[in-house]
Amino acid sequence: MTSESRQVDTDPDCLFCKIVAGEIPGDLVLTTDHVVAFRDVNPVAPTHVLVVPRHHRPDAAATTEADPEAVGRLVAAAAEVAGREGLSDYRLVLNTGPGAGQSVFHTHLHLLGGRELAWPPG
Ligand code: AMP
Repeated sequence: MTSESRQVDTDPDCLFCKIVAGEIPGDLVLTTDHVVAFRDVNPVAPTHVLVVPRHHRPDAAATTEADPEAVGRLVAAAAEVAGREGLSDYRLVLNTGPGAGQSVFHTHLHLLGGRELAWPPG
């Protein structure tokens, strides 16, 4: 990997940018050139992993606007983690905006699994 390809858009005040950069610890389960996946610190299912792009964008729509393939990479990484965890059934969630439960404004895909998941969600 060239140093140029390591350049990422970051926000110095963003928690997930700091995890991506290794400045604060995360329980990492997968890293690629494009994404980092780590266990949620407050899990709501036996498997609860967050998959985030290395580039800082506030939500999935902004990530897609900047790079139409980026969210697909998040889904592919989540599927890989699910497979490693032995999950055939799982849920992927992209909370967008505070009214939908988003609390960290760096795009992240929740991977939830390992228990029955009710629908509709709350
Ligand atoms: P959301 O509410 O969709 O923005 O999801 C943010 C998630 O980040 C929540 O499920 C939090 O539990 C999780 N979270 C917050 N801080 C950390 C951290 N330091 N490491 C891992 N997960 C975190």
